[in-house]
Amino acid sequence: MGRLGVESAFEVLARAKALEAEGRSVIHLEIGEPDFPTPPHVIETGKRALDQGFTKYGSPQGLLPLRESIASYICRTRNIKVGPEHVSVVPGAKPIMFFTMMALLEEGDEVVYPDPGFPIYESMIRYLGAKPVPIPLLESRGFSLDLDLLRARLSPRTKMMILNTPHNPTGGSIPPEDLAEIAAMVRERDLMILSDEIYSRIVYGDVPKSIASYDGMLEKTILLDGFSKTYSMTGWRLGYGVMPVWLVDAVSKLMVNSNSCTASFTQMAGIAALEGPQDCVDHMVAEFRRRRDAIVAGLNSIPGFACPLPAGAFYAFPNVTGTGIKSKELADMLLQKAGVACLNGASFGAHGEGYIRFSYANSLHNILEAVERIRGVAHHWQQQ
Ligand code: PMP
Repeated sequence: MGRLGVESAFEVLARAKALEAEGRSVIHLEIGEPDFPTPPHVIETGKRALDQGFTKYGSPQGLLPLRESIASYICRTRNIKVGPEHVSVVPGAKPIMFFTMMALLEEGDEVVYPDPGFPIYESMIRYLGAKPVPIPLLESRGFSLDLDLLRARLSPRTKMMILNTPHNPTGGSIPPEDLAEIAAMVRERDLMILSDEIYSRIVYGDVPKSIASYDGMLEKTILLDGFSKTYSMTGWRLGYGVMPVWLVDAVSKLMVNSNSCTASFTQMAGIAALEGPQDCVDHMVAEFRRRRDAIVAGLNSIPGFACPLPAGAFYAFPNVTGTGIKSKELADMLLQKAGVACLNGASFGAHGEGYIRFSYANSLHNILEAVERIRGVAHHWQQQ
């Protein structure tokens, strides 16, 4: 248990709530959760499914109609050919990490993964006794990977490569030419790629490609996606992985040993999400774009902050080295003195030092207020 990590977003949320309980005002830019309601037609379908009796155990792999729906969605959006037999439905996207890593990794196996990156990657690698091999992301490359270092760090013991695009915490994305180079690097290697594409629909420019669509990569890829971000369904707990059938079987076995199955009525709601009107997603992304533009402009107007324009997700990741203050100290100061909850970049890995993550899943009004609150405490570092 000592090797398992945690997510700082939940820790900071608890600290922010404690301050609020003391009567302090806090603007929440820490947690990675869309602030939009689940689309009404999805809620209605979930309610109807309860009335229709989707209240019982289902297949550990996921209900066939949902798996068919997911397979067709993935074929359409990723330009690959998969069927329902390649799909594992699980409670949220996180269990895809947990189960596939548990199925694939042995003690001493090496895993390359992005640094900074989603903290659960490193947590799971360590938990399983595998060796974490972090690959720095480069701000100068739009927070894509340092490809030379990636190549140098691959070894005969590398059993897994984790990619995440669009990326948490930087909002960066891996350009197609980098994906092509990565595919060429691993094509002849005996490893699996865990491609975390949970933010695939929250993009502001070109739609990112999936590594699974490159020659020879489909049988090497676990494509992770889900409903939490795209359809504002974080609390429904519904996610999935698309992977080779032999690995689907392993995930089903782990499901039988843990959850038995994903809740049946939420799976019916998932079909409505994928097959129903998509204007709710378009509306959410348009709103996120407005907020992104506002927060980036606002942060860039603060002395010591330099914020690149994120390509996707709903995170701004300004470089704050100009303040001369360590990321953790600065994040603490912003919470305590300015009432702005945000995350220390270094909580996502050593290469996140010098950055702060702001989630802009909050109203434009609150975002603008947060920027003014930060400006109000900037004298703490301007004098230095
Ligand atoms: N991957 C990334 C990169 C994430 O940021 C998150 C959620 N913060 C997840 C996976 C987990 O998604 P879910 O809530 O569906 O388990």
